[in-house]
Amino acid sequence: MLSYQHAYHAGNFADVHKHIMLFAVIDHLLRKESPVTYIDTHAGRGLYPLAAEETARLGEYREGIARLWQAREHLVSDTLLADWLAAVGRVQAREDRLDHYPGSPWWLSDRLRAEDRLALFELHPGEHGHLSQQALPANAQRIYGDGLQGLLKRLPVSTPRLCVLVDPSYERKTEYGEVAETLLEAMRKARHAVVLVWYPLLPTGRHSELLEGLRQGGLRKIWRSELRLREPQESERGMIGSGMLVINPPWGLDSRLEAAMQHVTPLLGTSCHHRGDWWVGE
Ligand code: SAM
Repeated sequence: MLSYQHAYHAGNFADVHKHIMLFAVIDHLLRKESPVTYIDTHAGRGLYPLAAEETARLGEYREGIARLWQAREHLVSDTLLADWLAAVGRVQAREDRLDHYPGSPWWLSDRLRAEDRLALFELHPGEHGHLSQQALPANAQRIYGDGLQGLLKRLPVSTPRLCVLVDPSYERKTEYGEVAETLLEAMRKARHAVVLVWYPLLPTGRHSELLEGLRQGGLRKIWRSELRLREPQESERGMIGSGMLVINPPWGLDSRLEAAMQHVTPLLGTSCHHRGDWWVGE
């Protein structure tokens, strides 16, 4: 039984981290003409009104997207951030006010070209219902089903290139291992796929099962980006940071993200810092 609903967390610091990375990867992929299939294994709703009861209740976006939105005039020198914030601006009802935050289905469909394909998997019936109401281009498909199994069933894809976003809620502890196993199998079928995998940084360090699983399974070329808000307080259990792996990152992505994150971290808090490194090299 799934209980996680992303609307409670939409626009938080982890979404900002994840979606800037996703935006940058799409940017790099669009530099070549050959078509891309995008697969979002855990899609969520698509677009989140910030005044909705769930989102307003925790108001996590205030410590996330709202910080960057307020500082947007000072971020224009970084083209990645400037372009990303301009895209955020396009979903607002009024251009000067932050009232919506776009989720991964929006980020993936916004720059989808006619020759590209997009598959969005969502397993929660209520969340899938919300996703069904989002306006999406005809070459974007919504699937009510398990995204990890769905990914494997779709491989190999018919386009020359593949980009996958894996963004589970990790409600079950076993998900870290399941994601690693699925990706090892997926990469055997699609060796050149660009894959982004999000994970939370928790005081328990539970994500190491995912990271070690990929390394010990023999995958190469994995870049890691971790945005850490603070060191954990004694007996703290909540999320203290956001992590993202990119398997087969496009050339130049690392330096572009490092530069952008240098502008983002001071906005998220005095203890916030970013680390980008190769989890597994070539
Ligand atoms: N990717 C979204 C974004 O960036 O805006 C947020 C996704 S949220 C962290 C995780 C979503 O995965 C939830 O909506 C949850 O219902 C859904 N989910 C959980 N297990 C799933 C599974 N096995 N297959 C597909 N969706 C799943």
